[in-house]
Amino acid sequence: MLTRENLGNANRIVVKVGTSTLTHATGKLNLLRIEKLARELSDLANQGKQIILVSSGAVSAGMDRLGLKEKPKTIPEKQAAAAVGQGILLHIYEKMFGEYGQIVAQVLLTRADSVNRKRYTNSRNTLFALLSHGVIPVINENDAVAIDELKIGDNDTLSAMVASIIDADLLIILSDIEGVYTANPQTNPTAVLLSEIADITPAVEQLAGGPGTVGGTGGMYTKVQAAKIAVNSGVTMVIASGGRDGVVRDILQGQKVGTIFISKENRLQIRKRWLAFGVKVCGWVTVDKGCEQALLTGGSSLLAAGITAVNGDFELGNTISVKSANGRELARGITNYSADDVRKIMGAHTNEITQILGSKPYNEIVHRDNLVVLV
Ligand code: ADP
Repeated sequence: MLTRENLGNANRIVVKVGTSTLTHATGKLNLLRIEKLARELSDLANQGKQIILVSSGAVSAGMDRLGLKEKPKTIPEKQAAAAVGQGILLHIYEKMFGEYGQIVAQVLLTRADSVNRKRYTNSRNTLFALLSHGVIPVINENDAVAIDELKIGDNDTLSAMVASIIDADLLIILSDIEGVYTANPQTNPTAVLLSEIADITPAVEQLAGGPGTVGGTGGMYTKVQAAKIAVNSGVTMVIASGGRDGVVRDILQGQKVGTIFISKENRLQIRKRWLAFGVKVCGWVTVDKGCEQALLTGGSSLLAAGITAVNGDFELGNTISVKSANGRELARGITNYSADDVRKIMGAHTNEITQILGSKPYNEIVHRDNLVVLV
């Protein structure tokens, strides 16, 4: 297991850079920054480490080339900018990594590559093939074709999914900020940097913006969600500032840089990882204390009797979250019942389901084989 002190032992490393790190305030690419990153990562590759880069910046690069002053509002316009920008971005990476003798490869993924198990395995094998050739894959979401339902939506999540798919040791997310603070430092000057987050509690999710707030779709919230995927997949994650020279090297030397999330000791099996993180979460149910205990310690299935609340509009076969009374995500799994039906049968005993719904296709809301515990 990797901790601060032995991060230098990480061999397979995913590095994610955000748009704010790759571009100037003008929207143009920050070439000096990209060049430094390419040099640093090439040096790690020269040490025999396997490097995977997840890079944003395609839309910005495309906007700049097309002379667009504002972020495109419609999806086709955004996808057009991404299609132009992706080529520009790759050209620059190829040039800069090429100067240091490294080969890069463009890999564009969509959620479909993780939803479908065959494609999930195929993505994994392709990335392994590239790494075995000593190639640095440069990964982005396939913005030019992805439609809403197939979107991963943000590169923080994408980078964690990639790290999970390829069994990485370490995920480094480079942002415009030093790490996770006790509050958003842009609005709260007294906020202090958290060097380590040992447990992603509801309080941690809250200080990162929390879901449903204005900043909730990006910013620190998606990074903390990414950390959840990483630590449950056996990947230690560090959030640090991409503006700091030599940041990746400093992290690997064990310096107290940014915020670290230490991975859980046991990696989930691949099927379980796919189950929990490959598919979009469509809603959640809240459970009582007894049910929580049974799920966490007894390896039970989720039964209607323990459910106290239902949120969202999910269908049979969707992935849902199971939360404790205080909002902590306990597990994810595939539901056998729709949200409407769960609302009708929550709190009821299994032998009452037929009476309430007219039939009982399953005894469990989520069968334990399709349930992944996350705490
Ligand atoms: P990137 O483009 O690198 O992915 P984002 O702008 O999406 O970066 O996310 C980083 C931003 O998240 C910070 O600049 C900050 O405004 C915001 N943020 C919100 N809550 C926090 C917090 N608790 N700690 C640090 N940053 C926070």
